[in-house]
Amino acid sequence: MLVCPSPKCGSPNVADLPHYWQSLPAESPLKGRYAPPARVEASYWAALVAVAAGIAVLVSGSLFGLLLVAGGAGWGAVVHRRVAESEARLADWNGSRVCLACTGTF
Ligand SMILES: [Zn+2]
Repeated sequence: MLVCPSPKCGSPNVADLPHYWQSLPAESPLKGRYAPPARVEASYWAALVAVAAGIAVLVSGSLFGLLLVAGGAGWGAVVHRRVAESEARLADWNGSRVCLACTGTF
């Protein structure tokens, strides 16, 4: 039997956070408090454009292209990390529970 981990509470009255959140009316003040974390959209196009432009510049004979390729690859890595972090936060939220007695989440 699952109980609230709060030492002052220990109530068995816990619910799945996503189910609980969906069942809240839109005007409930708890709707914002328990909302899922914002999803970061993957926008790799800017990184891809920079890499493609860098290759084009390199092919034309300028080493400046290397800078563009490195910058584009670095930006792509940053975007990838932010997306992975946001997905981990969302997975956490999906697996969270809320205590209906003390309103804590865990
Ligand atoms: Zn509790």
